[in-house]
Amino acid sequence: MIKPLVDLFFPKICYACLNLLSDNIETICLDCRHHLPVTNFHFNADKTVEKVLYGRTQIENATALFRFEKRGLVQQLIHHLKYKNQEQIGVVLGDWLGAELKTIEAYNTIDLVIPVPLHKNKLKKRGFNQVAKFSQQIAKALNAEYKDDVLLKVTNTTSQVTKKRLVRWQNNSEHFTITHINALENKHILLVDDIITTGATLESCATVLNRAKNIKISIATMAIA
Ligand SMILES: [Zn+2]
Repeated sequence: MIKPLVDLFFPKICYACLNLLSDNIETICLDCRHHLPVTNFHFNADKTVEKVLYGRTQIENATALFRFEKRGLVQQLIHHLKYKNQEQIGVVLGDWLGAELKTIEAYNTIDLVIPVPLHKNKLKKRGFNQVAKFSQQIAKALNAEYKDDVLLKVTNTTSQVTKKRLVRWQNNSEHFTITHINALENKHILLVDDIITTGATLESCATVLNRAKNIKISIATMAIA
């Protein structure tokens, strides 16, 4: 008897279209599930994401679940995930992409899933890394290990002081560091982020990870801008 009352005061909405959700649907409505702009890159061996990083760092395979469009459904989803504490969006998207990647040979050799890290100050402020749940669900689907303690962000690129200094910094791979290089040797890593735009962040992470002996790096993101 309590549930209808809860729904009256806290109605469940779809975090993509913001319409009310029907009873047995969570997080994203059926209509949005059908209309979200999936890329299908991984099904078609499409190299769009690899091309962003081509010549900048060594990558095995790369994919993105959605195309990011300004003011579109994907922007709403990622906004609610990052700024409105709706971490379950990461779970839904991770289950979605994980189930797809599981069927593709190139992703079945993944040993470790590593999220692009936040600086510890940013993590404290937001309370969670917005790609953690997404990465964990993909790791589960691929029978791989989730590891968020091998790649760390060492500079706080959002602090005002650092922003001024950054203008002078050419090599931004120095924003990241690896803690246990041995844990990465001979491993196939899936490096995970929310949106790939210029590829600068993923390039920085991959450059640092590529210092480990005989490492292979693939990439998965929620969206490509
Ligand atoms: Zn919807």
